[in-house]
Amino acid sequence: MKFYSTRNHQAKKSFSEAIFQGLAPDGGLYVPEDWINLKSDFLELNHQTTINEIAELVTYSLMPEELSRKEASDIAQKAFPFAPKIDKVKDQLSILELYHGPSSAFKDFGANYLATVMEHFLKGDNRKAIILTATSGDTGSAVAQAFYEKDNIEVVILYPSGRVSPLQEKQLTTLGKNITAIEIEGSFDDCQKMVKEAFVDEELMKLLPLTSANSINLGRLIPQSFYYIWAFSQLKEQLDEEIYYCVPSGNFGNLTAGIYAWKWGLPVSGFLAATNANDVVPEYLQKGDYQPRPSIPTYSNAMDVGNPSNFERLRHVFDDNWNLMRSMIQGETISDKETLSTMKRYYEEKNRFICPHTAVGVLASENFLAEYLKGSGYVVSLATAHAGKFLEVSQKAIGREPELPETLKSLLKKEKQAYSLGNTLADLKTFLKDHFA
Ligand SMILES: *Cc1c(COP(=O)(O)O)cnc(C)c1O
Repeated sequence: MKFYSTRNHQAKKSFSEAIFQGLAPDGGLYVPEDWINLKSDFLELNHQTTINEIAELVTYSLMPEELSRKEASDIAQKAFPFAPKIDKVKDQLSILELYHGPSSAFKDFGANYLATVMEHFLKGDNRKAIILTATSGDTGSAVAQAFYEKDNIEVVILYPSGRVSPLQEKQLTTLGKNITAIEIEGSFDDCQKMVKEAFVDEELMKLLPLTSANSINLGRLIPQSFYYIWAFSQLKEQLDEEIYYCVPSGNFGNLTAGIYAWKWGLPVSGFLAATNANDVVPEYLQKGDYQPRPSIPTYSNAMDVGNPSNFERLRHVFDDNWNLMRSMIQGETISDKETLSTMKRYYEEKNRFICPHTAVGVLASENFLAEYLKGSGYVVSLATAHAGKFLEVSQKAIGREPELPETLKSLLKKEKQAYSLGNTLADLKTFLKDHFA
């Protein structure tokens, strides 16, 4: 299988080339040139199927020219030492828990897979890479954990001083070894600007094997399809109803990955795109008009995106056809007030803490079940993070805080190790040359 940019279908790349490039040179996103057909494989899965088996199947099917079956199997084992869980909460509704990985959010699936695949290709070619990334908190912690102790890879993470939560700072700064954290005297925008400038600095790019690992990377998108397939394998023997997936969305990478699974033959009746007040995509689905705009801060802040980067991939899947996209994806917008009341209700009725993003998804699912499915059909609603990562919002909604997951608890005892730098490209260049050239 080859991959091409959403903006230029002529220049075809291997998977390995696409993941080390990240963004295509023309500014587009890498997408598969064709859809594999795994329908008969999917129909053979059952409740004993593991996420690793699914990862092996899809990885090998996408890259038979680049990997042997054995290599695909090794990557699949190594990438996922953790697994999703599925839990029925109502007659027609299950929650798919994607927060049992090292950073307690679903981004672990993408980051761990990308790290494992990069390590594999680097070893094969006997080369090194330096991952350079800026973070406002969450993405960086998933990347740091995923690349920790990977051979031939150094990771440099820039974060704005004083502007990430104490827990996020621990996640970024306590690993050490091949993970270098740099506290920047400036904002997240400064960090992002420095990284962007570094990638177009000829001297630096000649000197160092810099690469990115941000959320538009194809190597983070593909593995997010695996848990949709896994959820189907868990439910298919019990259900003869139609399955819908509800996805709390910001940049729409997660939802796009679900759509990929459907294109490969997963029997899905439809997807629900659940957003907070940043509802550019639900609005497009309703009106046919795509109007990106600055983001609005909400309680589900990982979804505060005004111009979703993966929308370009979604458009590509549906040949930019509005009616086609609408036939498969329905939008639902949930307010902050509804987010808090849903968190409270799940705590009071089910003794269950859910994170604000997950709350957006479950309320959207409940509305969809009541208004559209009316007694038939089944919804799998994705839980994107552990509630313990959003203590302030829990406090506000419920007046109580959930326990932190064990992986995060142990971090609080560890020492912060970080460098401090000013907010210019010159500062970063000097640092990188001193440490890695
Ligand atoms: C990143 C994130 C989302 C949004 O996912 P997208 O792929 O950007 O749509 C939702 N919830 C949490 C907790 C996240 O970290």
